[in-house]
Amino acid sequence: MATTRTFSIIKPDATRRNLTGAVTKMLEEAGLRVVASKRIMMTEEQAKGFYEVHKDRPFYGELVTFMTSGPVVVQVLEGEDAVKRNRDAMGATNPADAAEGTIRKAYAENIEANSVHGSDSEENAATEIAFFFNKDEIVG
Ligand code: ADP
Ligand code: MG
Repeated sequence: MATTRTFSIIKPDATRRNLTGAVTKMLEEAGLRVVASKRIMMTEEQAKGFYEVHKDRPFYGELVTFMTSGPVVVQVLEGEDAVKRNRDAMGATNPADAAEGTIRKAYAENIEANSVHGSDSEENAATEIAFFFNKDEIVG
């Protein structure tokens, strides 16, 4: 299996509870390496653009409000089959459905404030990485 990259966000509910390190530790323990990382306040424009695929969903407005409610940590993760590895480490979107040992089972507050984002395909990973990082900010 090839070494690939994926995009991760530690969401405002997690930064608010000082869980940046705890979440990153779980990602590292899952075999992922942080090759880029920055803590930012997402603008409304960035959040709307990033979640554009969900613009017709009823929770879109609330999601944009949540994602701009506090700092987030955007990261590029590298590892074997990184997209799937990260999604497995994250667990199901709704923490009520998340498996034991996953980040969302351990830390998510609810289906919206669910602590982490992870790309769902290689193609989206490339798009999402480019949305937040220049090439020279990624050091593998
Ligand atoms: P995932 O983050 O697991 O890929 P989705 O892409 O379906 O999940 O949704 C994006 C984000 O939108 C979720 O992580 C969560 O923060 C929020 N969200 C998803 N479904 C709901 C919902 N029913 N109500 C409120 N927020 C939701
Ligand atoms: Mg998704």
